[in-house]
Amino acid sequence: MNLPSWLVAIVDLIFPRHCCICDKFLKNSRFLHLCDYCESQLCWITEPVCSSCGRPFAGDVSTRVCLECRVNPPRFNKAMSLWMFQGVAREIIHKLKYKSGEYILPDIGAMISKNQAMVELISQGVLVPVPIHWRRFFSRGYNQSELIAKVLCKIAQNSTMKNLLVKKRHNRSQTELGPEARVENVIDSFAMRKNVDLPKNTKLIVVDDVMTTGATVNECVKQLNDRGYFDVSVVTLARD
Ligand SMILES: [Zn+2]
Ligand SMILES: [Zn+2]
Repeated sequence: MNLPSWLVAIVDLIFPRHCCICDKFLKNSRFLHLCDYCESQLCWITEPVCSSCGRPFAGDVSTRVCLECRVNPPRFNKAMSLWMFQGVAREIIHKLKYKSGEYILPDIGAMISKNQAMVELISQGVLVPVPIHWRRFFSRGYNQSELIAKVLCKIAQNSTMKNLLVKKRHNRSQTELGPEARVENVIDSFAMRKNVDLPKNTKLIVVDDVMTTGATVNECVKQLNDRGYFDVSVVTLARD
């Protein structure tokens, strides 16, 4: 929710705001819960990036696809993220995921809305949040990927969100595992809901908070592919 600046000023007098990262008192900051200094420490992903996985590109830019994607092509068409998963970005996502940090979503929305390429991508399709298991949903109270997808829907008014996927298995958190174990951990842990009546050529955009090895999103895309949906992209807040 974007409050008018005069109302923010009044609310600030009664309930002073602090930066959610460094706790500095916030006055005239560009964001509601992030100071300008902490925002400046975010490592934004900018061109040149791999046209497939979206990672910053260090190699021969004429090919536009990184070596890793050429050797091991991902199942999705294209992935796009706002930040590298480090420093302030890591802390923001940790708060969003584990510390009831939903209050920071309007700031995240304001940042996403400045990324024209991302807004264009999410405007073209149906957003599909990566699901969490119902046990985790009841302990956390929300699915952070669904909250991010709702923010994306507000920014790109043509887009819609559909919970097409379910998490079948309550497996170990990916954060505890190495790259190979992550792939094994997510195999067959997602499924696509029955009775989905979207045309097979619908552009789907899987939404998650962070992409590290890509094992989770690849497994989600596999479920969509198995049901005949092949135009699938990925949007995450951050990536490794
Ligand atoms: Zn700060
Ligand atoms: Zn790549």
